[in-house]
Amino acid sequence: MTMTMTTDTAALPSLLTALRLPSIGRHWQHYAAVADREGWPAAKLLGTLLELEVAERVQRRIQRHHAESGLPPGKTFATFDFEAATGVRKGQLLALASGDHWIRTGATALAFGPSGTGKSHVAAAIGSTLIDNGYRVLFTRTTDMVQRLQAARRDLALTTTLDKLDKFDLIILDDLSYVRKDQAETSVLFELISHRYERRSLMITANQPFSSWDHVFPDPAMTVAAIDRLVHHATILEMNGTSYRRRAALERGGHDAQAATLDPA
Ligand code: ADP
Ligand code: MG
Repeated sequence: MTMTMTTDTAALPSLLTALRLPSIGRHWQHYAAVADREGWPAAKLLGTLLELEVAERVQRRIQRHHAESGLPPGKTFATFDFEAATGVRKGQLLALASGDHWIRTGATALAFGPSGTGKSHVAAAIGSTLIDNGYRVLFTRTTDMVQRLQAARRDLALTTTLDKLDKFDLIILDDLSYVRKDQAETSVLFELISHRYERRSLMITANQPFSSWDHVFPDPAMTVAAIDRLVHHATILEMNGTSYRRRAALERGGHDAQAATLDPA
């Protein structure tokens, strides 16, 4: 392409498209008008437009990472009641969500507790905040991940698939204890754990403590080896309260009952 030194504004849209600068494409006319009106030095206009492109590029990237994450919508710290969560401290959760250290060293976070105590919500909230902080996160049911890895193994593509998953700084495996070794061969889960060990982070939620993980892995030695790797550098969250769902239902029930007595029939 030959360039002339005269400003050919008609060519700008296609040049900006060719260079993939959509934000400048949307805003240059506005800022050029401001610059003309206020007598900006040329370098100021150039700097303003480039800064705008970079800032919006960061935002677009974060939006893409949210879209690819599989995170359940609405499960963030904004909708999480820290008071209602027993066994976890707010500071501890926010430290995990900042990603400092543990994500960069490929450490692990484990959330244990009965059903309904907020394990998945907490994991999703941590994941969502990490994405806002520039990390890449994948949230998946453990059974879905096992199926995906088994399909890859059948296609002789397990290693490539594990390598591709390395793009995620954190993989959240929700409900590990729902995996059953008799459903299919689950050593792929062990492969995933070994592959990421001390390199890329995992967060796992489970209703059952380690003692009942024997039904997840093909043999006891593999269970021990998996647990060993997971706990070596781990933050463990014991979500040991009563079910938030049940409590919310009870409170609703109580409120309705009270409303009924106040409301003369
Ligand atoms: P678990 O994964 O431990 O079974 P969930 O995270 O799915 O539990 O929580 C059950 C429901 O209760 C979800 O709708 C979740 O958003 C909500 N919930 C649980 N704990 C809290 C909390 N502390 N604050 C707000 N909502 C909560
Ligand atoms: Mg859950």
